[in-house]
Amino acid sequence: MQTNFTVKFWGVRGSHPVPGKDTLYFGGSTTCLEVTIGKVTIIIDAGTGIINLGNKIAAEYFKSGSKEPLELTLLFTHLHHDHTQGLPFFTPLFLGQTILHMYGPKNYGGELAVVLERAMTPPNFPIDFDSSNSVKEIKTVKENVIIMFEDHLNTKPIILNKFMDKVELKASNIVIRILNDYSHPANGVFVYKIEHERRSVVFATDVEGYAFGNAKLTNFSENTDLLIHDAQYTIEQYTGLPIPRQGFGHSIPDMAIEVGKKARVKNLVLTHHDPTVTDEQLKKNYSMYKRKFQNLTYAREGQTFNIS
Ligand SMILES: [Zn+2]
Ligand SMILES: [Zn+2]
Repeated sequence: MQTNFTVKFWGVRGSHPVPGKDTLYFGGSTTCLEVTIGKVTIIIDAGTGIINLGNKIAAEYFKSGSKEPLELTLLFTHLHHDHTQGLPFFTPLFLGQTILHMYGPKNYGGELAVVLERAMTPPNFPIDFDSSNSVKEIKTVKENVIIMFEDHLNTKPIILNKFMDKVELKASNIVIRILNDYSHPANGVFVYKIEHERRSVVFATDVEGYAFGNAKLTNFSENTDLLIHDAQYTIEQYTGLPIPRQGFGHSIPDMAIEVGKKARVKNLVLTHHDPTVTDEQLKKNYSMYKRKFQNLTYAREGQTFNIS
């Protein structure tokens, strides 16, 4: 029997949160994705969506009466506000029972731990990062790293160097690969691929397409079950005056679709919706772009995909 492999969106909005009646359908929280494989929970990014996720995880943990630690893995694509803003309000961070493994890129020369600490420091926040009770293992990683779990019952990640460590990976391992994409200012982003039992998901937020398609990302996403790709802008926003968004590090749906088609992905989900775009406009865009790629979805907060 296949292990359950689910992907749930907790935040799908780019740039900043947008509460209000115009975003009730797709959601107004910023980027956060939960990937669950058996007992393993992998969270990507800590936008404001992570707040509700943290509350859910904590509630379930206490309800279960578990005597084991609450062990979670948190991956960062990059450290812009809309991908970190929720971290100071992430309940498991403050629980003494939590073991939190955090991985992400170096930012403007700063190690991940230092940048995260700086984002949660008085006077900006009353509790400094280090005084929170969880046990934290924070590691700056690079594209040469593979993050691996022995299987779906093992919640402790292992870090491998994909060039040096000659480990034979098995289908029963959970394998996280990294692609360093340079299209997002000014430091680039990490795209993550999570694989288990010949199924996979690729999370490519905050990327901008290239002429003739993003070859590196296309290769990385080849035949994946679920490609989640940035599509923040409409063509009008991307090219229109007075502020064309070209070079801002985000895509239009056509760029995501080009990667999706060339990589022959099974499902394509567009995310990082622009904060100025209403539910009504997103629904319109969806019906327009659905014609260009059959298994296309616009990400919605609370939406879950079963990877089978
Ligand atoms: Zn962003
Ligand atoms: Zn960004």
